[in-house]
Amino acid sequence: MWAIVIHGGAGQITSTSEREHEVLLEAVKSGAEVLASGGSALDAVEKAVLVMEDSGLFNAGSGSCLNIAGEVEMDAAIMSGGRAGAVACVKRIKNPIKAARKVMELTDHVILSGEFAERFAIKMGLETSNFITEEKMERYRKLMEVFNRKEWYYKLNKDLLDRYPELIHGTVGAVAIDSKRELAAATSTGGVWLKLPGRIGDSAVIGAGTYADERVAISATGIGEYIIKMGFGIRASVMAEMGMKADEIARALIAKTSSEFGRGIAGVIVVDRNYRIGVDYNTAGMRRGWMRSDMKRPVVVDL
Ligand code: ASP
Repeated sequence: MWAIVIHGGAGQITSTSEREHEVLLEAVKSGAEVLASGGSALDAVEKAVLVMEDSGLFNAGSGSCLNIAGEVEMDAAIMSGGRAGAVACVKRIKNPIKAARKVMELTDHVILSGEFAERFAIKMGLETSNFITEEKMERYRKLMEVFNRKEWYYKLNKDLLDRYPELIHGTVGAVAIDSKRELAAATSTGGVWLKLPGRIGDSAVIGAGTYADERVAISATGIGEYIIKMGFGIRASVMAEMGMKADEIARALIAKTSSEFGRGIAGVIVVDRNYRIGVDYNTAGMRRGWMRSDMKRPVVVDL
């Protein structure tokens, strides 16, 4: 048996294009193919995230948002079998999730950030790319106008998100369990529009936005600062240890987030060691999809 769940970010999702739907489907299918052919959960989550990073349609890889200095700074993490790796604030690496895996497999560290993380990834043979497009600059200029009118500044709280809910959606993530009962999680993001340079979000923080152990795997999306403070991954692990199921864990994480910080904050996907799936969010929507070996075809929910 095996299972995979993916997300394409939580937030205010007003519409999903056909292409976005196709990419989500392709991401689930590509991870499912790895698992169906006896591959590892680790390879499956990496594959699913790669598809979404490369699409340019989500806030990860080529679709990453811009920080307040008009630069791309991406975070990504991967974890499986007691090993974990992450990169933070990388500007040019085409696939940050691959760089995270290199950190996991080739270093004694868990997170590498900034310039050195980039140098390391390039040395390990990873491709670079320029992700600053005219379309993104246009959006950046519009957001900066709001910023300069002092109507907005980087104060990620509920009021802000009520006004600009589109600011947080689009991160991508995947969790999976393979036929050997190994669990894995992967998350990749451009972060949040107009974040300060050097800001690291929850996606790169093992135990917060990305986590997998022998009982549970989670990938979160939403406002990273809250997800870090909540310690989503570690909480999920404790809940699984207490015997809670994937869907109960997802619901409990989001209920706690809502009671501590309000709504419009986060979403999470969960898989547990008994191949159960959990999904919950307190934003308007969360793009997601899943497939299990006992299902005929994958399911994708666009909103
Ligand atoms: N969690 C990501 C971050 O704060 C953003 C997102 O999920 O959209 O960097």
